[in-house]
Amino acid sequence: MKVQSTTTQQDDHFLISNYDYKSTNIEKNGDKYIAKPQITNFKFKTDTRIPKLGVMLVGWGGNNGTTLTGGILANKFNITWNSRRGTHQPNFYGSLTQSSVIKIGTCNTEEVFVPFKDVLPMVNPCDIVFGGWDINSMNLADAMNRAQVVEYDLQQKLRPYLEKLVPLPSIYYPDFIAANQGDRADNVIPGNNKLEHLNIIRKNIADFKQQNNLDKVILLWTANTERFCVEDPNVHGTAEKLLKSIESSHPEISASTIFACAACLEGCSFINGSPQNTIVPGVIELAEKAGVFVAGDDFKTGQTKFKTCLVEYLVGAGIKPKAIISYNHLGNNDGKNLSQESCFKSKERSKKTCVDDILESNKVLYPTEEELNIDHTIVIKYCPETGDSKKAMDEYIAEIFLGGRQTFAVYNVCEDSLLAAPLIMDLLLLCELFERIKFSKDSCEYQRFDTVLSWLSYLMKAPKSESGITTINALSRQRAMLENLVKVCAGLTVDDNLRLEVRYG
Ligand code: NAD
Repeated sequence: MKVQSTTTQQDDHFLISNYDYKSTNIEKNGDKYIAKPQITNFKFKTDTRIPKLGVMLVGWGGNNGTTLTGGILANKFNITWNSRRGTHQPNFYGSLTQSSVIKIGTCNTEEVFVPFKDVLPMVNPCDIVFGGWDINSMNLADAMNRAQVVEYDLQQKLRPYLEKLVPLPSIYYPDFIAANQGDRADNVIPGNNKLEHLNIIRKNIADFKQQNNLDKVILLWTANTERFCVEDPNVHGTAEKLLKSIESSHPEISASTIFACAACLEGCSFINGSPQNTIVPGVIELAEKAGVFVAGDDFKTGQTKFKTCLVEYLVGAGIKPKAIISYNHLGNNDGKNLSQESCFKSKERSKKTCVDDILESNKVLYPTEEELNIDHTIVIKYCPETGDSKKAMDEYIAEIFLGGRQTFAVYNVCEDSLLAAPLIMDLLLLCELFERIKFSKDSCEYQRFDTVLSWLSYLMKAPKSESGITTINALSRQRAMLENLVKVCAGLTVDDNLRLEVRYG
């Protein structure tokens, strides 16, 4: 695709697009709103040179880590496999960037769509170099077998590639994850000195980058869900305080926060795929100073994605959700870890907040604070026999016309990691892309996006944003935001869906 327009310029290294952003400023005058449409000029400058990308996963030997690594290798080497359903070809289904499309315009009256990945130059996932850590020493072939996610024939075909991959020893603070994980911890960095731990992880990152001749590295936490750390401004509040607390091996510094700090100090962006409060203010300051991004929290894969879609539909249709009862049972190691109350609490928090902004937006349905407090219950049960094939059963009870009730009972079954792996890949590819984009407002100097990369909210259950920026959870708004951003950067027109060119030529 090539954009021909007076508002875009392209040379060998950069694509610059000029965008007049239309928004509406609202002033409140008593009980009236005064709406004042305005236009602000933005320029987006994308570095079109694709770097050699390395990714280091924390929790590499887990279900997500093995499924992602194996899935990408299957695509890279075009490995086919057989099951009772026949012969399968590798694909990237479930990946926004690789398998979804974006409308770029109209040819006569036909709408034209292209793959998301083709709108701006992006890293090919098959070119990513993977590495990482795990508190368990199993090589990735055996770990994939333990995970029980991937079909047996594919596991066998991937074995020669995966058995060479062994996770680096990791930091293990037993107090932060469930006690039932103790028997996995046979690959840990010894000692209790948190500063030494930080320095070892930093060295691991620097060595990985150098040994693989990489242009950049991104770190992603896909290890067990930790309990929340007890956040204290004196411990976690600034970069300086955080580093001092690491130096003194403060007990409320989690392993995930050490990884986040190591990433920032090595000039790498960090993504938190679990719900705990890893990205404390001190981490954000470190990232800001290093000019890298942080993003989180908790992958938005199946049940929550559906929830933020269904609730958006109901509220958008003027129907009032009154209760959401969300029940899960799963039998993988994630479920085992979540069976401990402290870790479950982290998950409950991120699963519960995901519809708040959708409800709050509609004051017709929810005129008072009290009404916003809907009955939202989360239950997660560990049932080993279920393996990674998680069962999610949700009941949505909504109030309709004249006091009637509409109830949806939704039953969702699938391998959790087959949803998570393509999503993790998208997080990495988009984070890398956003590192190459700068913008300028009203002809001021170019700057990078905010340190907390809330553009990735479509992929996060509890999207973290810069303080003062409200969180959007509604799925279609999150997707539109990403789609429009890449279109704007490419110099394409943002679609308002009026389709006037089709209706009136
Ligand atoms: P998993 O238990 O299979 O894998 C986690 C891995 O992390 C294990 O191999 C474990 O040994 C390792 N680990 C634990 N502590 C570690 C540490 N300090 N350093 C390095 N490794 C460590 O879990 P999973 O199914 O792969 O999920 C990973 C995370 O992703 C969980 O926190 C889960 O809640 C989160 N998540 C998963 C999904 C999904 O759909 N699969 C969705 C949202 C969030």
